[in-house]
Amino acid sequence: MGSFATSETNGLNWTRAMAAALTLSPEVRAKYEAVIGLEVHVQLLTETKAFCGCANKFGAPPNTNVCPVCLGLPGALPVLNRRAVEFATLASLALNCEVRERSVFARKNYFYPDLPKGYQISQFDKPLAEFGWIEVPNGDSKKRIGITRLHMEEDAGKSLHDGLPDSATRTYVDLNRCGTPLIEIVSEPDMRTPDEAYEYLTRLKEIIVYTGVSDGNMEEGSLRCDANVSVRPRGQEKFGTKAEVKNVNSFRFIRAALEYEIERQIELVESGGRVVQETRLYNANEGRTYSMRSKEQAHDYRYFPEPDLPPLIVTEKWKTEIAARMPELPEARRARMIAEYGISEQDAHTLTATRAFADQFEAAARAAKNPRRVANLVQSELTMRLKAANLELEQSPVSMSGIALAADLAEDGKLSSKQLKQLFDLCFEKNQDFGPIYEREKPQQISDASTLERMIDDVIAANPAQVEQYRKGKKTVAAFFVGQVMKASKGQANPALLNELVTKKLDA
Ligand code: ADP
Ligand code: ZN
Ligand code: MG
Repeated sequence: MGSFATSETNGLNWTRAMAAALTLSPEVRAKYEAVIGLEVHVQLLTETKAFCGCANKFGAPPNTNVCPVCLGLPGALPVLNRRAVEFATLASLALNCEVRERSVFARKNYFYPDLPKGYQISQFDKPLAEFGWIEVPNGDSKKRIGITRLHMEEDAGKSLHDGLPDSATRTYVDLNRCGTPLIEIVSEPDMRTPDEAYEYLTRLKEIIVYTGVSDGNMEEGSLRCDANVSVRPRGQEKFGTKAEVKNVNSFRFIRAALEYEIERQIELVESGGRVVQETRLYNANEGRTYSMRSKEQAHDYRYFPEPDLPPLIVTEKWKTEIAARMPELPEARRARMIAEYGISEQDAHTLTATRAFADQFEAAARAAKNPRRVANLVQSELTMRLKAANLELEQSPVSMSGIALAADLAEDGKLSSKQLKQLFDLCFEKNQDFGPIYEREKPQQISDASTLERMIDDVIAANPAQVEQYRKGKKTVAAFFVGQVMKASKGQANPALLNELVTKKLDA
């Protein structure tokens, strides 16, 4: 699960802080436009691997989830995992792609120690799906980023270069990841800024995770992104030569890497140089990219159709069955929640951060008397405290039913906002849910009308100017009196009763 606090307001500042010192003037920068296309690999959450029965799970002891098929031993034959096809198809449909009825697996040949077969099973000229898109925010409207293709392939193993006692002299290989089912999602070169790329990735991950086909966990490598970027003078139609930035392990770093790379290319062109097509690596500590290999050293994969697997047929009927499992996707869900609960766009974003969270919120919102109060409590009391305690939502001491209870107590005027805050503080301090804390504390409340009336009289007597304003028609001044009495009562006045009595007294 990603960090709970995903909202990104000052993106560019972040990016600049993380990128190496840049010397380009804004005027020169403005003469150029960047072109960005992204290639994203996503591991599928199947029980077993793509072409064998080995467990598909992260973190097992090295080389324990392997068999003759994923080790590429002679004579072993692959059998396609039906679940992987269903997941890939579901993802394709969620990304608005056209799913091809007949797609073809191909061998992508290269030599590397973590690839025992000497080739990767992938798809080449007949991928599973094509012609999709994702919408990203674009000012007040939206922009469609095209998805060229989505194809299935298998992952390679992992070379362990660091962290072992003899890492200085040896590299080890862990083949557990060999044969893990992947989808690769290739975008059109439709993005023009690092922020747009960041948005695209955020939406893509959100959709993928919502469909349940992947956990999208970048730290564990279940979502990986290569970024292609070029620059061209503004107004020129023809694309410039691109560089590909590999191995960047967070969306923020990708944005920073792109920002750096764009400026590097512009500086190069400005000083009379030429961008060469190459693969570059991003160094997050330095905020720079470095050349890894140039086009001349690029791989020739010698693709050919995989002779051990028949073409993959996804019939209309099967596709329909898979489509029927599509959950409500985040964008649609936000729109519905805004309409159904009267919450704000920003609330809707926080509340749909994960599908589980949105489910919980909706259960609480439906159980509570006023769903907007539930949303407000989540935004104000919960989010802030989770952030301060550096907790994920899943680790919150206060459950959504606890929030619903708190919302109802506030709605009925049984708790003032100050008392509510104190109870939330206690929940986090004692790591207990709202229900038990409320039962134990049962905050004192002054619900005795004559006591409250005496307090109101005192405040009215002490503030003749405000009384004057109110009687001249400025009804909002009532809130001032409520606030003053609440303060005098140390937050213990029954808010509903207090409101009623203040108005009555002022109107008297
Ligand atoms: P390659 O043949 O080098 O693999 P592709 O045409 O397959 O290149 O594109 C790979 C990725 O690079 C795609 O996401 C595509 O959108 C992007 N891309 C292609 N050309 C450019 C360009 N000139 N500038 C930026 N991105 C590009
Ligand atoms: Zn295996
Ligand atoms: Mg390509």
